[in-house]
Amino acid sequence: MQQEDEAILRLTEINKTYDGAVPLHVLKGINLEIRRGELVSIMGASGSGKSTLLNILGILDNYDSGEYYLNGVLVKDLTENRAAELRNRLIGFVFQSFNLINYKNAVENVALPLFYQGVSRRRRNKLAMEQLERMGLADRAHHLPGEMSGGQKQRVAIARALITNPSIILADEPTGALDSKTSRDVMATFRELNEEGMTILIVTHDPGGGAQTDRVIRISDGLIVPDNEIISKSSN
Ligand code: ADP
Ligand code: MG
Repeated sequence: MQQEDEAILRLTEINKTYDGAVPLHVLKGINLEIRRGELVSIMGASGSGKSTLLNILGILDNYDSGEYYLNGVLVKDLTENRAAELRNRLIGFVFQSFNLINYKNAVENVALPLFYQGVSRRRRNKLAMEQLERMGLADRAHHLPGEMSGGQKQRVAIARALITNPSIILADEPTGALDSKTSRDVMATFRELNEEGMTILIVTHDPGGGAQTDRVIRISDGLIVPDNEIISKSSN
């Protein structure tokens, strides 16, 4: 078993440049450690490299130099199969735009990751229902995304992220398309999951969202701002 205090993500001097007519050096030596059980936000202005960083953490994109350890495994020069295997086993993604399939209902959307794992329809629908219940959405199970509010859609997306029982949730601006009340509700959902032990990393440019996490990491011009603002919250 993994130790409580062990880093689940460790980045050392990560550099990333997008090639092009004018190459763009986006990440300029990122050092970052996330421990198991943390609820962390990464904040920075638009264009500062937040999504680039999250895509690297989620093994959706490669980096040029440095080292990235995920759950003790060096994520570097992996085959596509190995990358997919690690990603599917360890990571749940949540996106600003929900990324739900519009012609599938909530249960089918939540169950989809299990379809790709070859789980039987009966079992994946049962597990999907359990996640929807956990999100307080049992009564929406057979509704299409178009019949749900933004907050409900994002909770369906969170249920989908949870269904493979990942070690960490990576969320890219998960409240970016939501009004402020709904944003707070979704952030409260992340906090509840964190209190159950889930490690959660949320990218946001909303200071309100950042304030609802235990640690705020700032990124500016491709670097982590050194004097991290640490917000300690009483557990309530
Ligand atoms: P953020 O999520 O903080 O807004 P991004 O990581 O999306 O920032 O982007 C950082 C910079 O990299 C921006 O200038 C953006 O235009 C550029 N960028 C992002 N993705 C690509 C890409 N695939 N190819 C080229 N440039 C990109
Ligand atoms: Mg972004």
